[in-house]
Amino acid sequence: MGNGRLTLIAAALPPVRGTLKADAPLAPLVWFKAGGAAQWLFEPKDAQDLSDFLARLDPDVPVMALGLGSNLIVRDGGVPGVVVRLGKPFARVEQVDATALRCGGGASGILVSSTARDAGIAGLEFLRSIPGTVGGFVRMNGGAYGRETCDILVEFDVVLRSGEQVTLSLDALDYTYRHSSLPQGAVVVSAIFRGVPGDPAAIQAEMDRIASAREESQPLRSKTGGSTFKNPAGHKAWALVDDAGCRGLQLGGAQVSEKHTNFLLNTGDATSADIEALGEEVRRRVKAKSGVELEWEIQRVGIKSPLEPLSQGKDT
Ligand SMILES: Cc1cc2nc3c(=O)[nH]c(=O)nc-3n(C[C@H](O)[C@H](O)[C@H](O)COP(=O)(O)OP(=O)(O)OC[C@H]3O[C@@H](n4cnc5c(N)ncnc54)[C@H](O)[C@@H]3O)c2cc1C
Repeated sequence: MGNGRLTLIAAALPPVRGTLKADAPLAPLVWFKAGGAAQWLFEPKDAQDLSDFLARLDPDVPVMALGLGSNLIVRDGGVPGVVVRLGKPFARVEQVDATALRCGGGASGILVSSTARDAGIAGLEFLRSIPGTVGGFVRMNGGAYGRETCDILVEFDVVLRSGEQVTLSLDALDYTYRHSSLPQGAVVVSAIFRGVPGDPAAIQAEMDRIASAREESQPLRSKTGGSTFKNPAGHKAWALVDDAGCRGLQLGGAQVSEKHTNFLLNTGDATSADIEALGEEVRRRVKAKSGVELEWEIQRVGIKSPLEPLSQGKDT
């Protein structure tokens, strides 16, 4: 492996029916608009295409799913191995019965909540405010306004790193706050969400209420990654960051949002190194001020520079 990047030439990769691109820039695909390239970016045609590819791919090659990149720092050295992005074929949402929807892993929260409204299904309104995909919600147990994905998830279809396609129920994920035990390299290709019967006009009113509350409290039109740190038990992360004097703190092109102190911003030309270093500086100051150790909610993936070793997931 040497410098952390596997030698992965096209000829060594299994054939695909979708698209497979080498050295694909990820910055345009993530909310922070920063970071390096995917060694390979795969957009499968359907679940079988993904399954066939993974079954034949060298098991040592790391695989990572990418949604809308709304909770991700992609490090500047890029992501070794294969990044799987679910495109249009995975963005469909259809009604399965009076209160349930089958949602493609690449469908957005807005599409899911609007389809639920049209079908008279209440309880999914909170997804209106989370700018991610169904796969990201299942992986992160995304939630807002008192509800989380685990409250609506019935079951989901996943392609495991081995290529095996399985249907798992909610219990398989051992959900806790913003965490699931989804195995490394697994890609959620669809999920069934269940709500309760509701009146479309009342559902729309709730979606509007949520949208305007969001607009007031979060920097929605900025290059950001959503909530940076998990709320520690008994605390609000934003308040700890504020108390530690970090509101507006800058490092390179990265800044702690003035509007919501648990959001980091790329003010224009930040590198992912700037953003991650600012987050670490905030953690240090919060620990010094309040004694609380903040835990990253944002997923940090890839390598810092092509000369540093591979590191993915929750490491620092
Ligand atoms: C302005 C803003 C507001 C936000 N507000 C909220 C909020 O209120 N509540 C909240 O919970 N989050 C919030 N977030 C964070 C983010 O939207 C959620 O974490 C969301 O679930 C991420 O979805 P995504 O599809 O963009 O995933 P990504 O950011 O692309 O990926 C996040 C993680 O999910 C994994 N993943 C993505 N797709 C799949 C898949 N198909 N299969 C398996 N794993 C997958 C990735 O590998 C990665 O580990 C906010 C973000 C922003 C920018």
